[in-house]
Amino acid sequence: MALFVHAVLPMAAVLFSGTVAVAQSTMQKPLLEDIATGKTRVIDLSYALSDKLVPWPSDAKAFEAKVNATVEKNGYFTRSFWMLEHYGTHMDAPAHFPPGTTTVDKIPAEKFFGPAVILDVRSESDRDPDYELTLKRIEAWEANHGKIPAGAIVLLRTGWASRWPDVARYRNQDANGKMHFPGFSVEAAKVLLARKVSGLGCDTLSIDPGNSSNFPVHHLVLGAGVYQLENLADLKDLPESGAFLIAAPIKLEGGSGGPVRVFALMAEK
Ligand SMILES: [Zn+2]
Repeated sequence: MALFVHAVLPMAAVLFSGTVAVAQSTMQKPLLEDIATGKTRVIDLSYALSDKLVPWPSDAKAFEAKVNATVEKNGYFTRSFWMLEHYGTHMDAPAHFPPGTTTVDKIPAEKFFGPAVILDVRSESDRDPDYELTLKRIEAWEANHGKIPAGAIVLLRTGWASRWPDVARYRNQDANGKMHFPGFSVEAAKVLLARKVSGLGCDTLSIDPGNSSNFPVHHLVLGAGVYQLENLADLKDLPESGAFLIAAPIKLEGGSGGPVRVFALMAEK
């Protein structure tokens, strides 16, 4: 069910000190105070919201914006907008799928800040649109960068963002309407939950693979109280390790999720 959302999204209150422990990395860690001088680069991983994005197939209407006041008539400009909670770049709160219970406004704020772990599966996804993340791929990341740290935000880089916002190519539906895009496997999600990650994310419509009909990864991850980020913008500029993420969702009371602004901070080379 859609909720009426009013006014602008919250921006993250950035309190990052640059001393947060990340997995072993040769990269210089980004510093908050270096943002203004350009030494720390900020990458916005959220798509701008409009009625032109790719909704879930069963969502006929997902977004509408209306002008309330114009400079010409009123002396100022305002709009109202309506949208589904799960549209565009958004966060799934644990309450989205049982047995998760936490609504988006109740997720502890410290969970929104964490080292970025990028699992690059672009070549696998190119070969097989039904690719599911393997344990081997996680092991390969850990062999290069060390154990995935508690509090990490783990993003699956499938390359699907290159299809955005082409509805047909992004959903990749077959003749029966089944979608085909890569995602996390249950086995991989179990290992990541055991690492005590704060969130999982992907550059596709869902963290379960597109051909899933019962969403086992959603049930598992949200049931463990961990949030999900979906429809992230292009992750191509992020290093596999060494960036820091801020995922700031709308603070919508009782929300099953909602639009999220996601930023990656990284040292400029
Ligand atoms: Zn969602």
